[in-house]
Amino acid sequence: MMDPLLHVKNLKKYFPLRKGFLEKEKTYVRAVDDVSFSIRRGNSFGLVGESGSGKTTVARAILRLIEPTEGEVRFEGMDICRSSESEINEMRREMQIIFQDPHSSLNPRKTVFKIVSEPLIIHEGLRGKKLRRRVEELLETVGLKSEHMFRYPHELSGGQKQRVGIARALSLNPKLLILDEPTSALDVSVQAQMLNFLESLQRELDLTYLFISHNLAVIRYTCDTVGVMYLGKIIEMGEAEKVFSMPRHPYTKALVSAVPIPQAEQPETAILLEGDIPSATHIPSGCRFHTRCFEKIGAVCEEREPETYCFPDGSQVNCHLFKSTALDDEAGHGGGSGKPLETKDR
Ligand code: SF4
Repeated sequence: MMDPLLHVKNLKKYFPLRKGFLEKEKTYVRAVDDVSFSIRRGNSFGLVGESGSGKTTVARAILRLIEPTEGEVRFEGMDICRSSESEINEMRREMQIIFQDPHSSLNPRKTVFKIVSEPLIIHEGLRGKKLRRRVEELLETVGLKSEHMFRYPHELSGGQKQRVGIARALSLNPKLLILDEPTSALDVSVQAQMLNFLESLQRELDLTYLFISHNLAVIRYTCDTVGVMYLGKIIEMGEAEKVFSMPRHPYTKALVSAVPIPQAEQPETAILLEGDIPSATHIPSGCRFHTRCFEKIGAVCEEREPETYCFPDGSQVNCHLFKSTALDDEAGHGGGSGKPLETKDR
C-alpha cells in the first residue's frame, strides 16, 4: 500500500504554566495528548470536537508553528519534528493552512494582487507579465475574476476573501491543505457553496485535506475519515460515514445526537452532556471523559485510561465498554474486535 502523505504518531503538545508560590510541581496544559493518525494522498481527514479539544493545536504542531513536546510528524516520509529550519521551510511550501477568519488573515492594506503574488515573488522569483498571468490563473482557479485583482479585502465579501486566502495558499502548488474551520466565519448562505468549491478543487488539483471543524455536518460532508477529539486525544476514529451513522464512543454519540446531520440515523432525543469540558490542566484520571459520561461502567473508568480498541473495518475507539465487548466476543457473543490492538496506520 502507498505510504500516507501525512503520518502523525503519538503527538503531544504540553504548554507549561508558571509555578505558583506554594506549588511543588510544574503544571502543564496538555493541549494535545498522544494523537496519532494518517492521511493518504487525495483523501480528506477530519478532526472534530468541541472548542478547546486541541484540534487547532494539532494543526499548528504539524506545521511546526509551535514546537511539539513529543511525537513524530512525517510528511512524505520526512520527520518534521527532527528537520532543520531550511527543510521545514521547504516542506511548508507543500503544506498550507487556511485560517478560520478570512478577514483577519488578509492584510487590509494590500490588494488581492499583492496578497496572492507575494509567495510567487519570494519563492518562485516571478516578475512582470509572468507574475500577473499566474495571479490571474490562481484567481480563476478559485472562482474570482481579474477585476478582483486590484481590490482591497474590505471591498470583498466573506466568501471572496476566503477564496483569496485559498488562492494564496495554492500559489506554491501544495500537496496538503490544512483547513481550520474554513466556513465558520462565512454566512450560512455561502458555506455550502464554499464546501462544494473545496470538494471540486480537491479533485481538480489532487489535493489532500486535513479538515478541522466543530461542525459534524461539515466533516461528514467533506471527509473520508474522521477523528473525534476530546481533551487533547482522539477518542474515536474511522470512516466518517460509519462513525456518524453508528457512533461507538459515548462522547461521539452525544455529539451526533445533538446536531442534525443529513442522512444520519439519530436518536429522537438529544443526549445532553452534564457539566463543562474539564480544563486541560487537570485532565480527569482514567478515562478523561468519565466526569460527563452517561454510560460509565464503574471504577475502572475513573482509574484506568482506556486502550485503543480496533475493529475489523479499521475504525477504533478508546473506551472500556469495548474491552467488555471484546471479552464477550471471546465467549462467542459477537461485538468488537475480539482483542485490544495498538493504534495502527490505516
Ligand atoms: Fe464512558 Fe467509561 Fe467509556 Fe470512558 S471508558 S467513555 S467513562 S464508558
